[in-house]
Amino acid sequence: MSDAFITRTEIDGDADGPLDDQRIAVKDNISTDGTRTTCGSAMLAEYVPPYDATVIERLKRAGATIVGKTNMDEFGMGTTTESSHFGPTTNPIDEERVPGGSSGGSAAAVAAGEADLALGTDTGGSVRCPAAFCGVVGIKPTYGLVSRYGLVAYANSLEQVGPLAPTVEKAAELLDVIAGPDERDATTRSEGADTNYASAADCDIDGTTIGVLTDLVDGADERVAAVFEERIAELEERGAEIREIELDSLAHAVRAYYVIAMSEASSNLARFDGVRYGISGGFDGDWNDAFARAREAGFGSEVKRRVLLGTYALSAGYHDKYYEKAQDTRAWIKQEFDAAFEQADVLASPTMPVLPPKLGESLEEPLQHYLMDANTVPVNLADLPAISVPAGTADGLPVGAQFVGPAFGERAVIRAASALE
Ligand code: GLN
Repeated sequence: MSDAFITRTEIDGDADGPLDDQRIAVKDNISTDGTRTTCGSAMLAEYVPPYDATVIERLKRAGATIVGKTNMDEFGMGTTTESSHFGPTTNPIDEERVPGGSSGGSAAAVAAGEADLALGTDTGGSVRCPAAFCGVVGIKPTYGLVSRYGLVAYANSLEQVGPLAPTVEKAAELLDVIAGPDERDATTRSEGADTNYASAADCDIDGTTIGVLTDLVDGADERVAAVFEERIAELEERGAEIREIELDSLAHAVRAYYVIAMSEASSNLARFDGVRYGISGGFDGDWNDAFARAREAGFGSEVKRRVLLGTYALSAGYHDKYYEKAQDTRAWIKQEFDAAFEQADVLASPTMPVLPPKLGESLEEPLQHYLMDANTVPVNLADLPAISVPAGTADGLPVGAQFVGPAFGERAVIRAASALE
C-alpha cells in the first residue's frame, strides 16, 4: 500500500455523470460525510465530518468514485508533505525525494496511477507545487470560482480547491465539475460558471502573447530555468509572441504571504481547543490548562510555529507593522499583475524554483523552505488562476511550467498549458 493515502475508501457517486468511470483521490482537509478527515493532524486523527463539502457533493453527482483521502502537510502548512502527523509521502518518480506539498498525497496518487484524478487545495502553491514535483497537471482556480464550503480553513482569503490530473484536458474536465457559485460560500462568484473549460484545451497558441516573468526565471535553479526556456522557445516557434515582464513587487511576495497566511491560520485554528473540535487533553478544573494541553498534544511543531507568529503579527502594537504592511504589499502585487495583463494574455514562469528535494533536506532551515514558494504565492495574493504543466525533466526529475491568467481567465491558462503539453 502506498503512502499517498491516509484513509482508503470506496465511495460511489450516482452513475451517469461525466466522471462515471473515474477514481478520485481527495485531500484530507476536504470534508467527507462519514469518512474521517484528519488534515494530516493528530488533532483531527479521529474526526468524522457529519456532512460533505460542496465539491464532494458535485463529484458524487458527476458519478465519480472517491478512492481515498490523501496525505498532506498538517493543515496545509508546508511545501513537501513532511509535516503530516501520519509521516511523509514519497515521490513516485524517485522514492528518496518529496512529492511536494501540501497536497503531496493527491499528486503522488495520480502520478502512481492509484487514482485517475485528485483534488488538492492551493493556499500558496499546494496544488501546483506537488503537480510540478510529481510530473502531473494542477490548477489553482481564480479565488471565488470553486466553493470552499466544507474545506477546513488554513487561510481563507488565499485558498481554493483545485484539480490534479495526468493531462491538461482531464484537469479541465474536473474543474468543469467543481466550479461555479455555491449559496453556502458567499465568496463564490458566478463568473465562469457556465464555461466548458475542457474545450479550451485545444493546443492553439498562435497569436497568444506570453509574458515571461523574468524575476521568477532568474531566481530559479539553472537546470529548471533551462528546461522552462526551451519550452517557451518552442511556443514562440509555433506562433506565440514572447515578452519579458519584470514585476518589482514579486520580490516581496513570500514575506507578505507568510504574514497573511500565518495571521489567518492563528485565527482559524483557535477552534481546535479539545472542546469544540479536536482531541481533548482532559479537564481538571482550569479551562486555560485544558486548552493548552489539547493544543500541545494535537498540533505539530510547524503548526505551533505559525500560530505563534500569526498571533504576534496581529497583536496590538505589531498589527500595523506586519499585518497591514503585508496587506499593502498584497495590493501592490495585484496592481502590478493587472498592469502586466495589459501587455500579455498569460504570464509564465517555472512553477517551482528548485527540483524536488530529498526527504529531510529542506526542513533544516524554515526560511529556505518558505522560499521554495516564491513563484506560486504571488498568484494567491492576487486571487488569480494558474496552472502547472509538466515541461520536461532535469537530471531525471520533473520540471513544471506555470501559466498565470487574469481573474476568471482559466480558459487562457488551460489553452497555453495544452499547447506546451
Ligand atoms: N507552502 C505554502 C505554505 O506552507 C503553501 C501551502 C498551501 O498552499 N496550502 O503555506
